[in-house]
Amino acid sequence: MSDLDFSSLIAAQRAYYLTGATRSVHWRKAQLHALVTMVTENSEAMYDALWKDLRRNRYDADLMDVAYSAKEALHALRHIDAWMKPERAAAPVVMEPGYTEVRRDPLGVTLIIGAWNEPFMLTLAPLVAAIAGGNTAVIKPSEVAAACSAVVADMIPRYLDPQAFAVVEGAVPETTALLEQKWDMIFFTGGPAVGKIIHQAAAKQLTPVVLELGGKNPTIVHSSADIRTAARRIAYMRYINAGHICTAPDHVLIWPEVKDEFLGHVKEAIREFYGEDPQTSPDFGRVINERTFDRLAGYLTNGTIVAGGQTDRAERYVAPTVLVDVSVDDPVMKEEIFGPILPVVEVTSVDEVIDWVNGRPEPLGLYVFSEDHHVTERILDATESGDAVVNDCALQPLIPELPFGGVGNSGMGKYHGRFGFEAFTNARGVLHHSTSVDPRIKYPPYGTHKGLHDAIGHLAP
Ligand code: NAD
Repeated sequence: MSDLDFSSLIAAQRAYYLTGATRSVHWRKAQLHALVTMVTENSEAMYDALWKDLRRNRYDADLMDVAYSAKEALHALRHIDAWMKPERAAAPVVMEPGYTEVRRDPLGVTLIIGAWNEPFMLTLAPLVAAIAGGNTAVIKPSEVAAACSAVVADMIPRYLDPQAFAVVEGAVPETTALLEQKWDMIFFTGGPAVGKIIHQAAAKQLTPVVLELGGKNPTIVHSSADIRTAARRIAYMRYINAGHICTAPDHVLIWPEVKDEFLGHVKEAIREFYGEDPQTSPDFGRVINERTFDRLAGYLTNGTIVAGGQTDRAERYVAPTVLVDVSVDDPVMKEEIFGPILPVVEVTSVDEVIDWVNGRPEPLGLYVFSEDHHVTERILDATESGDAVVNDCALQPLIPELPFGGVGNSGMGKYHGRFGFEAFTNARGVLHHSTSVDPRIKYPPYGTHKGLHDAIGHLAP
């Protein structure tokens, strides 16, 4: 067996799954508790790895990865009894005595492929959902955040049931080999280009997928908005984690009469958050690698820089930057930026905003800053996005009560909280029909009556 032959690993997980061991609520709770303990006892290693890969500070490390993952598990622990309870309803009259139930059955042997920008959130939050659903999982962290990948690979086998969970580290060859196996579900986080590769591989076996992808999240600042608050909230979420956030505001669409005020407040916010020289701020992160640095540095030739613009390749530093006068054909306006650069574009009407959004691939997040409810509702009604936030941005993944995920080009399927549990289970409709009554009316020969169809006619459209 070569290093890239995962058939015995998957066969062993399937055999274990088929014993039924992962189905009991007791096992699921024990694994979720173990995951919380794992995060608590390894938090220093997780902080260190995030610093090494992304120069992430501890507060943001907790917000997006470390404490975040434990909180997702604690949320599942609080709700799992209710989630697992089958939903019941009465049966149609002709099927009485009887009742129906929607069971939430595990899917089986699952594969979780993570991205590098939130390397613990994107492996452990889907894992929480896989556990809650009663599945086994193979976890493939991104090789790009190498220090974090190593921590995931080190800690999972020490805390979680080794018969149900395994980590495979690696890049394209390992992922390609994993995709050759038969899975019951593939949960992928990454870009749309690789998302298509995953979807194609899954289609060969009709394997269901959740694709958590990215894109350009439009951020609309209407003339009625509270401009200072909008500027601060947008700056916070554009520059956190050096801009490596899938839900980050990608570009601002703003009414011209409030543009200068907005730009002034963004510059003030950058100074307030990160000081006169953000390169010396302990709170401002670094770009993940040279390749991404070069891509981002290239964007700085698009339009006009009105804030930031400084770079230092040796340190992988790109300053918090604001661009104006960009063209729609510039690379910065065509590709997901995924870095600390914010282009600001003028728009003059709600219709123009709607055409802008609808003329481009469906975004993961759409953000509207407006104090005019009618404007907000019109934009929400006429556009599509995975999620949306009004008068703030990028916060939606922090709320487990909200379904999180894309639509169209930004992905398919939702997770977090109950939605993760649902993504990792099969909604199995079951009719329990008593044998105590069996009316003659439903069977042929039909003559004076029209069989079962007639009897349930009240249900027909
Ligand atoms: P990516 O698509 O390059 O890689 C993601 C994963 O796929 C990695 O584990 C990688 O090893 C694997 N991979 C890469 N190339 C592959 C190939 N040819 N065949 C098989 N597997 C392959 O994405 P990334 O650069 O790690 O992450 C950035 C992207 O992820 C951005 O678009 C961002 O918006 C998106 N993202 C989305 C979410 C979300 O929850 N929706 C969260 C974070 C990041």
